[in-house]
Amino acid sequence: MALKIYNSLSRQLEKFVPLQDGKVLMYSCGPTVYDYFHIGNARTFLISDVIRRYLEYKGYSVKLVQNLTDIDDKIINRANELGISSSELTEKYVNSYFEDSQRLGIRLADVHPKPTEHIPEIIELIQTLIDKGVAYPIDGDVYYRVNSFDGYGKLSHRQPEDLLAGARVEVNERKEDPRDFDLWKSAKPSEPWWNSPWGKGRPGWHIECSAMAMKHLGQTIDIHAGGHDLQFPHHENEIAQSEVATEKPFARYWMHIAFLRIDGRRMAKSERNFIFVRNALENYSPEAIRHFLISAQYRHPLDYNATSLKDSTSAIRRLNNCLDALKMAGVESAAETSSTVNSQPQSIEGLDSDASLLESINTMRDGFEAAMDDDFNTAGALGAIFKLVNGVNQFLAGTENQPSQATKALLGKTYNNLAEVCGVLGIYSETQDSASENAALFNQLLDLIVDLRQDARNRKDWETADKIRDRLKQLDIELKDSRNSTTWKIGN
Ligand SMILES: [Zn+2]
Repeated sequence: MALKIYNSLSRQLEKFVPLQDGKVLMYSCGPTVYDYFHIGNARTFLISDVIRRYLEYKGYSVKLVQNLTDIDDKIINRANELGISSSELTEKYVNSYFEDSQRLGIRLADVHPKPTEHIPEIIELIQTLIDKGVAYPIDGDVYYRVNSFDGYGKLSHRQPEDLLAGARVEVNERKEDPRDFDLWKSAKPSEPWWNSPWGKGRPGWHIECSAMAMKHLGQTIDIHAGGHDLQFPHHENEIAQSEVATEKPFARYWMHIAFLRIDGRRMAKSERNFIFVRNALENYSPEAIRHFLISAQYRHPLDYNATSLKDSTSAIRRLNNCLDALKMAGVESAAETSSTVNSQPQSIEGLDSDASLLESINTMRDGFEAAMDDDFNTAGALGAIFKLVNGVNQFLAGTENQPSQATKALLGKTYNNLAEVCGVLGIYSETQDSASENAALFNQLLDLIVDLRQDARNRKDWETADKIRDRLKQLDIELKDSRNSTTWKIGN
């Protein structure tokens, strides 16, 4: 089967053919590190991770580069608010980004470049654009001359008048054209700066991604991914800068990941409706959060509501129970050859037979691959997986007696197949321990106990409330009552 990707550039599903045989060069726009990231941001990062894992499953070797934007207006403003330097702020949030994304099972990219460590490359690229006549310096700023690039608008499919409407928001008399965007910004007081041929200043956001993608992946890359909101102007500007500089196509497949929504609105810092990943991880396992975030195909909006993560937690529990049962039943003979399975299908008591279980393994594989080949349809892939999980549960319910060797081998084979495809989606790892799931369960149980104690206090049942507090204290869990709520902590 051939993998097809929806290319935002052509607005069509296209067969995926990388530039070099067997090798994929991929760039994914990463976070601006001025705060923790929320589960809406996580959707984009997680989808890039799943795309990379599936490409590897198909036999490609993938080089993934994900930038961490560590110089930006938001960073400077936040650092000034807090009275610390930009670098102190970004160091903290780079570390928290790595902590949270790794807890979520997002593998590290091959390179995580930061613009502050690529100033010479960025300056060189800007100079190339000036030399080619498509960029112009004015009083220490450098702008890109949008009307010098015929292809401007080809990614976002915008007409010149739409582009103007968008650009009017920022009135700047010094620009030749309102659509022109900054490549280099002269330093204002209390801003970090670097020396450049145009004076002290710092790079614009768009040029960073062009310069770092070129440095670490080369002039033409296979896949460029990012959130839907980055298509314009960020990615449009990346194309304009890169393609004029190299005179080659910049990215061959552009992928844009849709938003996570709450109550029909995009989850965003500006909307104040977000849930930080680190808070979600206090109550839900990484696998449950991943399951939720891939429960819709990436181009479709995904809606978050009160039951989303609970439903995903139940689904992951069902999956883990099934895999545990398969492991127990089939582990002794998992290493046996599958020829035993094929040559001696054996009917057993119950809801299913060996032959039909074998068939359902193949159906699951086919379904999983067909869905993933269809523009990484993770929702379809989960459907194929959980159909087999349900079938296996029925099968095991019907296997009351000690299963035969052939059945055991088949159960081992089922385990291996399920574990492999779940590993591609990152919702199961053979080496995972249940610690994270137990920790989430522990937090939920304590919240429940605190709730029940609050009920007792509300009805002035002080005896029960004190008993709960004292018993928890014996377990080294301390409750602290305030007027309206009770918090708990472990130890003193
Ligand atoms: Zn970018």
